[in-house]
Formats: sequence, structure tokens, C-alpha cells
Amino acid sequence: MDTSWEARAEAASFYGFTDLPSVHQRGTVVLTHGQGPYVVDTNGRRYLDANSGLWNMVAGFDHPGLAAAAKAQYDRFPGYHAFFGRMSDQTVTLSERLIEVSPFERGRVFYTNSGSEANDTLIKMLWFLAGAEDQPQRRKILTRANAYHGVTLGAASMTGKPYNSVFGLPLPGFLHLTCPHYWREGHADESEAAFTARMARELEDTIAREGADTIAAFVAEPVMGAGGAIPPSAGYFQAIQPILKKHSIPLISDEVICGLGRTGEVWGCESYGFMPDAIISSKVLTAGYFPMGAVILGPDLADRLQAASETAEEFPHGFTASGHPVGCAIALKAIDVVLNEGLLDNVRTLTPLFEEGMARLAEHPNIGEWRGKGLMGALEAVADKDTKTPFPGHLSVSERIANTCTDHGLICRPLGQSIVLCPPFILTSGQMDEMFTKLQGALNEVF
Ligand code: PLP
Repeated sequence: MDTSWEARAEAASFYGFTDLPSVHQRGTVVLTHGQGPYVVDTNGRRYLDANSGLWNMVAGFDHPGLAAAAKAQYDRFPGYHAFFGRMSDQTVTLSERLIEVSPFERGRVFYTNSGSEANDTLIKMLWFLAGAEDQPQRRKILTRANAYHGVTLGAASMTGKPYNSVFGLPLPGFLHLTCPHYWREGHADESEAAFTARMARELEDTIAREGADTIAAFVAEPVMGAGGAIPPSAGYFQAIQPILKKHSIPLISDEVICGLGRTGEVWGCESYGFMPDAIISSKVLTAGYFPMGAVILGPDLADRLQAASETAEEFPHGFTASGHPVGCAIALKAIDVVLNEGLLDNVRTLTPLFEEGMARLAEHPNIGEWRGKGLMGALEAVADKDTKTPFPGHLSVSERIANTCTDHGLICRPLGQSIVLCPPFILTSGQMDEMFTKLQGALNEVF
């Protein structure tokens, strides 16, 4: 019997989001610990994780302050929910802190265990509100093709990826508009401004066709993350926000990836100059040291939901670990580490180096474009640079590049035909060089 970690992992695990032929051929990387932005496997091999775990481990894998915050809270009060009229003191403090660092002058916070659950919670809030405000038809959710909002039934329905059809999703009433990716979706001879105007017209037309009073919200990531680190076309949010406002449709910013520093501002909506009605947060919220998500409601939704809740006597929703005190203690520390202990500053310092490195790699004849914002970016592989013709197959080329990187001790993510980089915020410029050198080597090897 093969008793290797790789064989044991394959025998005992049911894999999700994993290319099985590749796993069968290459084996599973089983990790035991980390140091700064590096992770180490059972064979003692070290990898620079340009993926930050899954966009979340921004403070690295051995941050003493985060571990200490967890230990102190485990010692004091290891767990409690946040309902039935009870919650931990840490939960109260975190809610106040989140509102303080949010773009809202006031608001309310609801906790979940993940970003998906936060998005499903948001949908239930909007549907609850629709019922309470005597608009039971206001249930449709608008998102975009290529968006990623999670895996639970509502969040998966919001997600604009074709793979969800294997589950018979999306659920009815979840509508996907065009992905605002100018390089890929722009017509020949269409300027970026004209493209943005077309996106805005599509939104207007959709609202007119469906009826504004049937639409509960428009939900968008400031930069699409799992869609392939796709920033919106220039002026996109400035064009769509007034349309949504005119029709009283809430704009929700899914900041699970962008929130708390990734784009170079505290929130992605700040990077793109729009004011959402609510923010969905997770990932950097605990720097990956605890599974946690949050719906941060701005003043209007907070007031209306509170009123609806008072009338109905309760909003019947919550998770056993909602507002878990250890998660809240870690989140309080993570927010401090990012905002006050130099991580956001480092994102800003590293961004020009990151952009330079990406631009250099994009000179490769098989890289069609580089795109990104702050410390997140993607390189899109193409068979023909002039015509932007993709390579055949869904993942093949990007998977080969990522696998070659892994062989050289660099973890990065193949997403469609692109390679996505979202390194931890603690990266040094030397580690940034290492990341680009290894990726350049992999490109030279694959092409
Ligand atoms: N929303 C966005 C923008 C995400 O990127 C993700 C996950 O990557 C989610 C929601 C879902 O979060 P989770 O995986 O914690 O359920």
C-alpha cells in the first residue's frame, strides 16, 4: 500500500475545484507549515505563495500577532453565537470597528462563516425587505458574466461562470449582464468610453425589460477576482451607479477579495469612486486565520432592515458561529495589522513594482494582456497576440504554466486562460523579483 501523503490525500479526499487528471498525474501537494509568504510541503519543499492561500493570507503564514490574538481569545472565551439577544464583547467591538473603517457614516454588521454565506445572507435580507415593504415581486438579482460570488445556492446563482450549469443553476431570477472587460468584450473599433456606455445601456435596457420594481439589487466585485483579476472598463461604476440610483436599486459591493487593502485603498469601491449600499467582506477580514464573512450594511439598508425586523419581530437567519469571538478577535487584529502596521502601505509601495513586472512579462508573444489593480493581476495567454485568439481548451495552457511554476517553487493560479497573481501584502521587493523570475522561467519553458 502506498502510504505517501500524496496517495493518502487522494484516497481520503473528495476534491472540489480541482483538475483531477492533473492531480492523478502530479499528485497532491500536502502542506505542513508556512514562513512569511512561503509554504512548505511534506517533502520539505518550499513554495512562494503568489496566491496568498486563496487571496486571504495577506499577513503570511506565521504572523505572531494573529496567532497570539487567537490564543488570547481561546483562553478567555472560545466561542459563542451572535443572536437570541446574546453576543460576545469582541463581536460588538468588531462591528463598531468595521463601521468605522467602512465608507459608511453609520451602519450595521451581520456575521457569517464565509463569503458565500455573506452573499446568501444578503439575498435573504433583500427578500425579507421586499416582503416587509410590500413589494414581494422585488426578488431579482443582477450580476455580471464571469463574476464570482461563491458556492452556496444563492451565491452560485449570482456567479457568472458556466460551470454552475452542472448543478442546474442559476436559480430563476438571477440575471447576468456582460462582463465589463474591455480588452475581451469590446467590439473592433469600439473605444473604451463607447464600451462603458454600452454596458450602461445594457443595464438600462435590462431594468426596462424586467421592471425596476422586480429588481432587488445589483451586486458587483470592484475588480472581478476569480473571473481572472478583471478591473472594470474606465468609468464603469460612474456610469452605472446613477442608473441604479434613479431606479432605487441597491448597489452591493462584493469586497471579499478587494476589501481591506488588495486594490491599494481600504475598499475596492474607494479605488473606483463609488458608494455602495452594502459591502460583503471576508478573506482579508481575518487575514485567513479564521473562516469568517460579514455583510456591512450602509445607513439606508441598515435602517430599512432594522425597521422590517422590528415589525416582523425577527430576521430568521444566522449561523451557529455567527460573530464567533475568536474570529472577531482575529479580525480586530487583522484590521490593525493591515491598516496600522504597514501592510496597506506595503501594497501601495509594491504596486508600481508589480505593474512593472507584469508589463515586462506581458511583452511575451503569447501574453495578450496584463491587467490588474493594486496587488492583484492576471496575464492572459493567447495563441495569437494580434487577433487575441485563445489557445484551444479551457485550462490547458494556464494549467501548464502554473504546474511549471509549482515545479520551480512558486504557487500561482490558472484561471481560464490566464495566470493570476495576488501575493501576500507582506511581500518584500526581493520576493517580488523571485516571483517574476520564476514565472518568466515557466513562460520560457512552456512556450
Ligand atoms: N465573493 C467573492 C468576490 C469571492 O472571491 C469569493 C471567494 O473567492 C466569495 C464571494 C466566496 O467566499 P467563500 O469562498 O469564503 O465562500
